[in-house]
Amino acid sequence: MGLLIKRTHVYGREGLFDVLLDEGKIREVGRELTGQGHQVLDGEEGFLSPGFVDLHMHLEKALTIGDQECPGLIDAIDSFSHYCETTIGPEDIRSRVGLVLENAVAHGTLAMRTHVSVDDVLGTMAVETLLEMKEQYRDLVDLQIIVMLSGLELTDTAYRAMDSLGHLNIDGFGSAPALSKDPFGQIDAMFELALKHDKIVDLHADEHDSPDVRTIDYYARKIMETGMMGKCTAGHLCALSAVDEDKARGTIGLIRESGMHVVTLPSCNLYLMGRGDRGLIRRGTTRIRELYDAGVNVCLASDNIRDPFRPFGNGDILEEMLLTAQVAQMGTFTDLEKVYRMGTYHPAAAMGLVGYGVEPGCWADLVLLNGSSAAEAVLGRANRRYVFRRGRLIAENRQESFKHY
Ligand SMILES: [Zn+2]
Repeated sequence: MGLLIKRTHVYGREGLFDVLLDEGKIREVGRELTGQGHQVLDGEEGFLSPGFVDLHMHLEKALTIGDQECPGLIDAIDSFSHYCETTIGPEDIRSRVGLVLENAVAHGTLAMRTHVSVDDVLGTMAVETLLEMKEQYRDLVDLQIIVMLSGLELTDTAYRAMDSLGHLNIDGFGSAPALSKDPFGQIDAMFELALKHDKIVDLHADEHDSPDVRTIDYYARKIMETGMMGKCTAGHLCALSAVDEDKARGTIGLIRESGMHVVTLPSCNLYLMGRGDRGLIRRGTTRIRELYDAGVNVCLASDNIRDPFRPFGNGDILEEMLLTAQVAQMGTFTDLEKVYRMGTYHPAAAMGLVGYGVEPGCWADLVLLNGSSAAEAVLGRANRRYVFRRGRLIAENRQESFKHY
């Protein structure tokens, strides 16, 4: 027996529709579909959207903030290293990550990619724990795992640990090369691992205030050199905002040419960057609109959830969309639709999700929101009435959202 959702707006269509979910997929989208033999749910003129996709998270770090002030990125790295030396363990990770996953799913996120730390202290423990959770939670969420070098420099021990994980069900390799003394060597090493194990690369790129810290051009060229166009992702790109217009144009052209997916993490970078500034404090976000207008696949994501890097976050992509719209000064309905794509279709493409969307034949991984359009959903941080995974209702919330559109 399938599930027929009656009278709902559907992403990308005008007017009200009925949507039939059956055997985990969307079977039919039409008007006046009969519910015979199916369970029927009144869509109450809400808005049916594909599930949200959170492309850049750090799950094993989540909920470790305590009550501490973080003076900047390097201090946050040190603070988490201290946590790893003193507190972290598989059970600790499982309980924190379980909470975050369940919250994110209840907010409509049905696919996510997390970077998971490997270093000389942690070894492979955090990745192995997350790999178990990837299986444990597969009925709720598609989880991709990027094995990430969490220290600044790639030691032989860390390299061997990363290499040993390449045979497991991980999805890619990454690091933050701009923080290394040998950024290009580190990028080369990530590609070496990815090519050896047939995985992707996802780097923290130029998370820095200075225009002189630039690894992104090298990364783009490396993608093209290795034939990995369309597969690799870069997060942050803060320094791209600090360079002059000509340089930025050149870099954005290279990014587009390489088919690199780009992910902006506004909440985290607004909090972390510009810490040495007084008076006018730099925003730390990348050139969101310019990248989008140039045809780059721009995504947005949560990054950290209440850890030393960012004390905020609810695992709620609509919250990140609303902030991104404000920070990127994208406020028209057309712009808000673009921002909505940055948390849905764009990251789904970056993750290579198959059967993502609201067309017949797609997986029934859906969220039914209050309101009637993507723009309204962003503006109102609309309530997620129902969340469906493979056609099964997995979360419900009947709160009303602010109504005045
Ligand atoms: Zn990150």
